Amino acid sequence: MRTCVGCRRRRPRPELVRLVAGASGAVILDIPARAPGRGAYLCRDSGMDCLRVALRRRSLSRSLRVGENVIDPETLGHQLSELAEEESPSPP
Ligand SMILES: [Zn+2]
Repeated sequence: MRTCVGCRRRRPRPELVRLVAGASGAVILDIPARAPGRGAYLCRDSGMDCLRVALRRRSLSRSLRVGENVIDPETLGHQLSELAEEESPSPP
């Protein structure tokens, strides 16, 4: 079980998406969840909302131990919405 840095819910690992401070220092989505280093987790199904909460509380930078300035909310939001699109179930 992992805790979402946004809503603080504890959920099984596959229901969350991992974020890491990449080699460049910028915070990126780690979809395969295999990047080295500290990770933080956001809900996959409500990643955008949880990202917003995490940014407001600064819990993302705190759990990754990075500065607020290396977090680009626009890029992360874009990546999260792409992920949500990919994974949204096709209509019956
Ligand atoms: Zn969440």
